Amino acid sequence: MNSIIRIAVQKSGRLSDDSLSLIKECGIKFYNGTGKLKSTSTNFPIEFLFLRDDDIPGYVSDGVADLGIVGENELVEKDREVSLLKRLGFSKCRLSLAIPKGEDYEDVNYFEGKSLATSYPKILGDYLKSKNIHAEIHEISGSVEIAPSIGLAEGICDIVSSGSTLMMNGLKEVEEIFKSEAVLIANKNLSEEKLAIIDKLLFRINAVQKGKSNKYVLLNAPNESLEKIINLIPGMRSPTILPLAQEGWSSVHSVLSEDQFWENIEELRAAGAEGILVVPIEKMVI
Ligand code: ATP
Ligand code: MG
Repeated sequence: MNSIIRIAVQKSGRLSDDSLSLIKECGIKFYNGTGKLKSTSTNFPIEFLFLRDDDIPGYVSDGVADLGIVGENELVEKDREVSLLKRLGFSKCRLSLAIPKGEDYEDVNYFEGKSLATSYPKILGDYLKSKNIHAEIHEISGSVEIAPSIGLAEGICDIVSSGSTLMMNGLKEVEEIFKSEAVLIANKNLSEEKLAIIDKLLFRINAVQKGKSNKYVLLNAPNESLEKIINLIPGMRSPTILPLAQEGWSSVHSVLSEDQFWENIEELRAAGAEGILVVPIEKMVI
C-alpha cells in the first residue's frame, strides 16, 4: 500500500517561512504557489495543507491532517488531543501580562478583581487559577494591546517577543506566564505505514537540527601540540589529523557544537592552533 502523510502548516504568518524551510532542508521538494491550499511533494510521500494556525491543532486531532507544525501557545490554548513529537526551536515567543506604564506593580495579586483582554483565555485562566486570582477575562481575537487605552480592559495577556508593540501602546510587561516555540504534533491514531514515514521525516529533521548546532572546524597546529588540541576538540569519534606540506605541522579537522567552540577558542590558540576555520554543516547523521 502506498501511504502518504498529510502535514498542516501555517499558510501565512510567523510560522510559515521557518516551517517550510525546515521541510526543504529535509530534502523534501514541493511547490507552494501563492494562494495554494494544498500541495504534494514530488519526492517524499507527504502532502501539505496550508491553514490558519488556529485550525492546526483541531485538524491534527480530528485526523484531517496526520502532522502539524504550530506554536505551543496555540496548541495548549486549543487543548486538543495530539502527540507532541518534537520541539522545533523557531518562532520563539512568550505570553505575558501587561498593564499601563504608569501603574505601580508589586506582584501578581495586582490582577485580583481586574479585567484582562486576551486571545488566550484558557492559558490565562489556568494561570490565574494556579495563583488563586479572580479576574475577568475578555476574549478578543486581535489587537489586544489597544484594549486598555480604549477602556475595554485594565490589562492584557498577549504574545511578546521584543516588547516594542507593548511600548508603542503605553504598556509594560509585568509577568511572563508561558514560553512558546514551534512544535511538530501528530494525530494519536496513526497506521503503521504512516508512522514509518513519520520516522523517516523525524530522522531527517534530527539530522538538520544537529547540523545547525554543530560546526566543522579545521585548524593548523605544530605536531607537538596535537595531543592537547585533540583533547580540546574531541569531535564525533576523534579528529582527523592530516600532515601539512610544511614539516612538523598538521591540519586538524573536527566537529563540535558552536558553544563548545567558543568556550575552547582561547585554549586552542594558546596551544598553538592557527588558521582556524569554522564551517557550517548542512546535515549530520551520527
Ligand atoms: P493566522 O492567520 O495563521 O491565524 P496569527 O496571526 O494567529 O496567524 P502569527 O502572528 O502569524 O499568528 O503567529 C503565529 C505563531 O508564531 C504564534 O502563535 C506564536 O507561536 C508565534 N509568534 C507570534 N509572534 C511572534 C514573534 N513576534 N516572534 C516569534 N514568534 C512569534
Ligand atoms: Mg492565528
